[in-house]
Formats: sequence, structure tokens, C-alpha cells
Amino acid sequence: MQKLKSKIIRDYTEKNEKVFVIRNFIEVRIPLDHFRKLEKRYPLEYIVSMGEPRRVVSHITKRNLEVITRESGIPLLGNPAFGIIDRGTNLLQVRGVTGCNFCCAFCSVDEGKCSKSRVTDYVVEPEYLVEWVEELARFKGRGVEIHLDGQGEPTLYPYLEELLERISRIREVEVISIQTNGSLLNEERIEMMERYVDRINLSLSSMDRKVASFLAGVQYPMNKILDAARMVAESKMDLLIAPVWVPGYNDEDIEKIIKFALEIGAGKKWPPLGIQKYIPYKHGRKVKTKPMSFSQFYSRLREWEKEYGVKLVLSPEDFGIEKRERYPSPIKKGEKFRARIVMPGRLRNEKIVVVKNRTVTVRTNRKVGEYVNFVITRTHDGIYLGEEV
Ligand code: SF4
Repeated sequence: MQKLKSKIIRDYTEKNEKVFVIRNFIEVRIPLDHFRKLEKRYPLEYIVSMGEPRRVVSHITKRNLEVITRESGIPLLGNPAFGIIDRGTNLLQVRGVTGCNFCCAFCSVDEGKCSKSRVTDYVVEPEYLVEWVEELARFKGRGVEIHLDGQGEPTLYPYLEELLERISRIREVEVISIQTNGSLLNEERIEMMERYVDRINLSLSSMDRKVASFLAGVQYPMNKILDAARMVAESKMDLLIAPVWVPGYNDEDIEKIIKFALEIGAGKKWPPLGIQKYIPYKHGRKVKTKPMSFSQFYSRLREWEKEYGVKLVLSPEDFGIEKRERYPSPIKKGEKFRARIVMPGRLRNEKIVVVKNRTVTVRTNRKVGEYVNFVITRTHDGIYLGEEV
């Protein structure tokens, strides 16, 4: 029990279920009557990791949570929600977790508890994730940047320190950067991250608590996030503040954020700001907003560049990103396959199959375990989509 307690943060009973919350992220729920029987026969460690029947959900979103381990045999290339994305440069996007504690009005992946479209979350075992990162980093060669981002808040990853520590030991990895909404950053976590991380990209879209709360879809912890920004700027890590400009909502804030970033010393090595224009995405949440063209957006950034003497119109070269050969993609558009469904997809009518050591997201209403015939409809950036035929 003692050994177990070090891993389990809480256990409680709720609605006739025994609930174990592991590392504040993975919820294992076992019907109480079954748990009572199991606890007479098995140690707690066994019940938490193997006891059936069980439901595993994300403690943050309460959605079904798929835990991807080496034993699962699920490859970590092919899906935009978990694993690795190689867009043909020296930067690899590494995604260990989905789910978010915010519900931003403009979220491009409709994340958070308020999501209407996402039905599944994923978490990848750190050792397994690192094996794939190593393989791709070796393929890319020296000077690789590992960027932890994803469909959700990357600092929710329950094995963040283990992951960072192991990635930092990969010879080819020169830079580790991480995307965050900042809500989980505190002194202790910043000290931990400082040992491995080179740059934190902090999304901060307003300096006004009311506007920030509206945009984030939650009570915005403004003081906590501004304090965290200051601490990061003062640490060995670099800080990049990345606001999303939503015309009609935070027009007044962008200039204030530029001033704040410069005042606290963001951008020691890389640019201090990465201002993004709000763009509505097909599967994202949409905000009713005054339209702003790209030329209006960039001309305003150029004016501020002159006024504040800071680079705001950015290119990949500003971050040392260069083109590199892509990791081989063995699947072609138009190819047809038949494969067994191994996991539910992110959206209701999506399922995950495995083909040629890659995952493919297939649009189908068939169930996990069934076979499906499909044709590949997308292969861009090594992200594979298929349509049932
Ligand atoms: S935009 Fe980022 S912080 Fe906001 S809900 Fe989406 S994933 Fe979370």
C-alpha cells in the first residue's frame, strides 16, 4: 500500500465506483461491488493496473483515456493527437498527452471539458515515446529541436520530468521547447523544467482578467500566470509569449503584451513574441469576430516592430528551423487496406487502425476489434486519414 501511495495521489468512492487518480491525470474507475470482491483476493497494485471491469478516463476532461504502451503495439507516427509529427524540418513535435484544463473560445482543436466533438484522450508511456523520439532524432541528425505541444495542455503530461530527462540525453537533441497555457507552472515546476527545457512558449492573450477569462473559457489565474512568466524570464530558460489576436476582443491587449514581454526580459535567445492571428478551423471552436486580413495583421505587426524595436513578423529561421529529409512515409494516397480497429479515434466517427507500422485514422462507425476496409485519403506531413469503402 505504501509503494502504491507514492504513485496514487488520491483514491475515493464516487457514484458506486472506486476511483484511483494516478499522478493527477489517469482515473481508474472500478464498480464498487467488484472492487470489494477484488480487494479480498488481490493486492491493490494489481487491482489498479489490471483489475476488471474498469473504466479509464482523463481526470481533467472525464473522457475515455487510452493509455498507449509499448505492449499495445500502436506506432507513434501517423496521428496528430499523440506520438511524433515530422513536417520535414529539424523540429519534431512530440505529443504525449491530449486534454486541456482550459476551454478557449478560439481553440483550434475544440479541447477542454466543454468540447462537443472530442470523445477520446490519449496518454503515451514515456519510455515508449522516447524510443520513437530517439529513432527519429537519429534519422534527422545533429541539431534537432524537440517541441512538446499537442491537442491540449502539454504540462498535464503525468510523466513530464521523466520524459524531459530522457529526451535531454539524446545526442542529436539540441533544443527542447514546450508549449503551455501556463496554468500549471509554479516555482517547483519551473525549477524542474529549467534543468531540461530551453524555451517555454506561453500562450497569453490578454492582460485583462475579464477578457482573459472569456477567451480561456475558465476563471483565468492571471496573477499566477504573470508570476510564472516573470519566473521563466528570469530563469535559464527563454520565454516566448504567444498571444492569439482575436479582433474585436483583445485588440487593446496585444500592445500591452508586447510591453510586458519586453519589460520582463522575454526573448533572450529567440524572439520574445509570437503573435498569431485567430483563424477558424474546421474542427475547432469558432468566435464571432471582425474579419482581419493577413495584410492588415502583418502591417500592424510591422508598425509595432518599428515602435518597439522588436521582431514580430517571424519565420522558421528565427528559431533555427531548417529543412531536413522526412522520415520515410510508407503509405500512399489512394492505397486500399483492410485492418483491425485497435482504438477509438478523437472524434465520434473515427477509429484508429495500424498499417505498415503507422496509425491511420479511419472514418467509420465500426467498433474496436472489428475489421474495416478503407482507402487512404490524406498522407500530408505523415498524418494518415482513411475513408471506409
Ligand atoms: S487553445 Fe490551448 S489552452 Fe486553450 S483550450 Fe485549446 S489546447 Fe487548451
